[in-house]
Order: sequence, then C-alpha cells, then structure tokens
Amino acid sequence: MSLAERDKKVIWHPYTQMKDALPHIPIVRGEGVYLFDEDGKRYIDAVSSWWVNIHGHAHPHIAARVSEQLKTLEHVIFAGFTHEPAVELAERLLPLLPGKQEKVFYSDNGSTAVEVALKMCLQYWVNTGKQGRTKIIAFKEAYHGDTFGAMSVSGRSIFTDPFKGLLFDVEFLDLPHAGNIEQLKSKINYLSNEVACFIFEPMVLGASGMLMYEAAYLDQLIETCQKHGILTIADEVMTGFGRTGKYFSCEALANSPDIFCLSKGLTGGTMPLGITTCNKQVFGAFLSNDQLKTLYHGHSFTANPVACAASLASMDILLSAETLPNLQRITAKHGEFALTLQGHPKLKAVRQAGTILAMEWETGNDSSYLSGLRNRLYLYFLERGIVLRPLGNILYILPPYVISNDDLDYIYKTITQALNEI
Ligand SMILES: *Cc1c(COP(=O)(O)O)cnc(C)c1O
Repeated sequence: MSLAERDKKVIWHPYTQMKDALPHIPIVRGEGVYLFDEDGKRYIDAVSSWWVNIHGHAHPHIAARVSEQLKTLEHVIFAGFTHEPAVELAERLLPLLPGKQEKVFYSDNGSTAVEVALKMCLQYWVNTGKQGRTKIIAFKEAYHGDTFGAMSVSGRSIFTDPFKGLLFDVEFLDLPHAGNIEQLKSKINYLSNEVACFIFEPMVLGASGMLMYEAAYLDQLIETCQKHGILTIADEVMTGFGRTGKYFSCEALANSPDIFCLSKGLTGGTMPLGITTCNKQVFGAFLSNDQLKTLYHGHSFTANPVACAASLASMDILLSAETLPNLQRITAKHGEFALTLQGHPKLKAVRQAGTILAMEWETGNDSSYLSGLRNRLYLYFLERGIVLRPLGNILYILPPYVISNDDLDYIYKTITQALNEI
C-alpha cells in the first residue's frame, strides 16, 4: 500500500471533506522553501505551510538548537518549575514588542494564545470588581482560531455554522475606513460600560481573505477603547515576526495594545507554541492575597523547552543581518508584480502588506470558499510545483523570507499564465 492509501485508511485531515478528498501528497523532506514528495517532485512552499514557516524548512540552526535541547531537557512541568529557554525567550521577546509588555504566558498554539488573552481580559474585570463588563468587540470578518472562545470572537461563517447557537455574543464591527470610522467609534462609546475588550488582527485579516485596513483607523479605535478602559488585544498570530515587513504589525501604531497573541512564526514554523503577553496593568489585576484572583489556566505542555529553544533559534535568524533585507526585497518584488496586475479584467482587487500579496479573482456570483475556481487554481499551481492555497477566490502568496528572486519570478510568471488560462 502507498503512504497515501495507508493515510486514507486511518487519518482525518483538517479542513478537509474526507468523502471526496484527493489523495494527500506524501512529503518526505523539506529544504529551504522547497518540499519534496516521495516521487522526488519539488514544490515551492509559497504559503509557508499555513503561514508558520518563516526561515525555510529544516533550517540547520533551528535543527541544531532543538536537537541539543532534546538531549538536555525535553520537558518539565511549568508550575513550580522553570527553565532557561522559557526565561530567555521571554527576556528577548518582551522588549521587541510595541509598547511596554511586561509578562509572557505560554500555551500551545494560536487558538490557545487567544483563549488565554480573552480569559485575561474577562477575569481582569471580575478581579477589579466590575462584573458587568463581559462583552467583547471584534471585527465581523475576523479569524482568531478554532477553539470555542476563539471561534466566538471570529466572524460567523461556514466554519462556525454548526456551532452557532453555542458561541457567545460578540459585538461585531465592520472594517474601518474613512466613511465609517466615526460610527464605529460611537458604537464603542455607546457600549463602553459593558465591554471587556476589543480583539483584532492588526491591519491584515488573514483567514477571511487577506483583507486589509489602515493603521490610522485602528489607532483611532484603540484610542477610543483606552478612553473607556476597554482592554485591547492584538492578535499577531499571523502578522507577527516580520510577515508584514516589520517585526510586528503593531509597530505601525501610535497606541499600544494591552495584550499580544503570538504563534505561527514564533518557532520559525518548527514546533507548536503559543504566547500571550500582557502589560503591567493587566498583570497587576491578578496579583492578590485572594486565591480566586489567580489565572487558573494551563496546558500540559506549557512552555515546552524544545519549542522555546526552536523559538530562540528562530529569533536569532529573525534578528540577523539577512532577514530585514529579505523582507524589504520580497516587499519590493511583490510591489512590482502588483503593478503589472493593475486593472486586470480577471482581478477584482490586488492587496499587499509586506511579504503578503493577495489577488482577488472576479467570480461573478460565486465567490464563496467552496467555489470551483478555488480548486482549479489550487491544482493548477500544484501541477506546476507551487503550493498556493487560495481562500475561496482569493489567491495569495505568503512565502518564507528566504525565497529567492528566481522562485518569486517563477510564481509571478505562473500566476500571469493562470490569469490567461483559467
Ligand atoms: C492561525 C490563526 C489563529 C489560530 O492559530 P492556530 O495555531 O491555528 O490555532 C489565530 N489568529 C490568527 C490571526 C491566525 O491567523
């Protein structure tokens, strides 16, 4: 039996209708931006393996650091105990974040980082004696993860539909623009006494189709929240660690959020790890002689030393002399290619934020995630050795930062060809 056939017998894949799923491609090796299947076919990983891989696959520096850590300390309970990789990672990460972030809380992935952030905010108001502040504000098209709290603060969609009765109520805002910003601010003002926090993806909403909005409007929304003491959560799970051209997307803001959620690029895409950071104000509300004011949250693998070691190695590379020039190079190349697409009759819009380039295809009436166009595009690029996984009719490139100009040019050429042929 082939690996794909053995897979079909025992595996249930994520985000996949298993009834008519195409055979899953067995990948045997990764190197830089390339993935190799069992027949030796090479693919450019142009979506960074679901947005996590920032420095390329099987990076030798990360591999060495991880293997060393595995031989020293693979894991230890993180209540009552600590270890060098967790402390060093927090020490190095906190000063990099915009504003004054004070503490790191570890968990396992982006969704858990969001759950922790929501619990910090909701309990903040319980601990400070304002029990009525339980509402959460989020963007209508947000995506914050797949666990119940994260799903609740995400936009309602086909993904959340089966659970809609069970998700908690959220005040959803439209994405801000010149025409509605005053109205959004009024809504926040009006609700302020009931609101615990505002959670947002800063400037780029990933899963809903790489939707983008301006930093200036987010600044105004954060400022309005701050006026009323509403806590703000920046979900930088996707945008963090250089993705939008800066180390963190929130560097473009004048106002600093109270809480950050990080994952995906955190370990360079090597291992699962989530981080929720908070400022002094949030942390302070949990310091008490009253045991009930403790944050009773944790996971078996909290602050796994191997994952922390991978993150430290990834941070070495992120802060090394090569990475910023790579970000600038990709940003400039994307920009040049975007210019050639301007006014293309098959594209409704082209959007860019740093290393992310998104192209929204014209579909007539059928623009859903399930549209046939999506599958045709996916297979078209796969055949040509490129992994691009459109979100419905939105095709996007989100590559590891080590991608070469030649590989970028090949992707652009293939997209141009697809625009002519599909
Ligand atoms: C992917 C993502 C999450 C969820 O992270 P997981 O590790 O998949 O649970 C949360 N927020 C944003 C913005 C994301 O892009």
